[in-house]
Amino acid sequence: KPTVIIIGRPNVGKSTLFNRLVGKRLALVDDQPGVTRDRRFGDATIAGLEFQVVDTAGWEDDDPESLPGRMRKQTEISLEGADAALFVFDSRVGLTPLDEEIARWLREQEVPVVLVANKAEGSQGDAGIYESFSLGFGEPAAISAEHGEGIADLFDHLWPIIGAKAEAAEIESQIDEEDEEALLAGPLKLAIVGRPNAGKSTLINRLLGEDRLLTGPEAGITRDSIAIDWEWPDPKSGETREIRLIDTAGMRKRAQVTEKLEKLSVADARRAVDFAEVVVLLLDATRGLESQDLKIANMVLEEGRALMIAINKWDVAEGASALFNGIRDALNEGLAQVRGVPLFAVSAKTGKGLDQMIGAAFELREAWSRRVPTAALNRWFDDALEANPPPAPGGRRIKLRYITQASTRPPRFVVFGTRLDSLPKSYERYLVNGIRAKLGFEAVPVRVVLKSPK
Ligand code: GDP
Repeated sequence: KPTVIIIGRPNVGKSTLFNRLVGKRLALVDDQPGVTRDRRFGDATIAGLEFQVVDTAGWEDDDPESLPGRMRKQTEISLEGADAALFVFDSRVGLTPLDEEIARWLREQEVPVVLVANKAEGSQGDAGIYESFSLGFGEPAAISAEHGEGIADLFDHLWPIIGAKAEAAEIESQIDEEDEEALLAGPLKLAIVGRPNAGKSTLINRLLGEDRLLTGPEAGITRDSIAIDWEWPDPKSGETREIRLIDTAGMRKRAQVTEKLEKLSVADARRAVDFAEVVVLLLDATRGLESQDLKIANMVLEEGRALMIAINKWDVAEGASALFNGIRDALNEGLAQVRGVPLFAVSAKTGKGLDQMIGAAFELREAWSRRVPTAALNRWFDDALEANPPPAPGGRRIKLRYITQASTRPPRFVVFGTRLDSLPKSYERYLVNGIRAKLGFEAVPVRVVLKSPK
């Protein structure tokens, strides 16, 4: 949640505003300066905009005519984490020297400031409001904290500053991290897809160490037999890891046999991705990468699944390294969403490369399930915006304010900002590529959604 700190000299109505925002009578409010002594935090809501508000009343010392060191120190500490400061003055009294002093000090801070003209009920604050333009914080929000007037005006001032973060917080509050962890601890759901004859059945049989797919009952295959639970001994760690293998050959038997075989492999893959976390697309080394393969690969990525590619029949491949590099280049060219999709040379017949492939599948699932902490994410975001600021079509800069990771599996990010309709696709790609390269999502499909606050 964004944090908003209320600042102002004694007796301008900070505590009244705090209570108004929090909606509860939490603190003593008195006409005597400095009656509230504790720093107070509260959850505030204006028209659905939720934030945490901090009241600095009571940080003053007894001399209301100076900006006391104690207040300054505490306020400085609070300002560090604050997303906005409400700088309150008494519009009926107008600006005092102390207001001016606070204003000077606030201008040196980094926090965005919303000037708040309090006690402005009726037109009694008009002169003070006019005077306050000289502070350089723009037009004040004219309110009456006591009578609850002008809160909509305050909202209009606050929203551009903290709206994005508030909406991001709402998205984040819906994330169930325990659920995510449980999924990662469960069996790896793996599908092996590819054109007919690529060697899928041979590969699965090799992995399982038995002719299980061939010996299964031909007719009346049950739904359960589509998923094969299996324990893979990880040669690296020596541990056994659980895998649920999705048998697309089994699914094919359930599919319409009237469909053409080539079409069928795409349909198989489509069904498999519904089940799988990681999908291995099996190529045939003796045939190379064909357009059908790219079609399947792109479909897997569009569905948001983690994709790996294995070139099978490596035992009979000719010109191995040229073949490998050729496929590597063709993939980078042909897969719009991901550069550097993991590529393996394997042989279902001899078993070569299979353990590396399976090990990599676990790693890929981890990247696909990864959550970047919001603070780290926004540090990267700020750097990326600074290195390459968004354009300003027609002289008006597009403002990008905040980013949050809305989901994992696949990783999906929401970028908040204004004037997003004019953001060029190339800039969106710049952000996606940055997320991939800098935040550890190289090999997984990444989604970025742009959102203007309501
Ligand atoms: P599927 O249609 O993808 O399930 O393919 P199959 O597993 O039925 O294999 C098709 C053909 O390729 C069979 O004749 C297999 O023996 C052969 N094959 C599969 N994997 C390999 C391999 O790694 N090396 C070689 N040399 N042949 C393979």
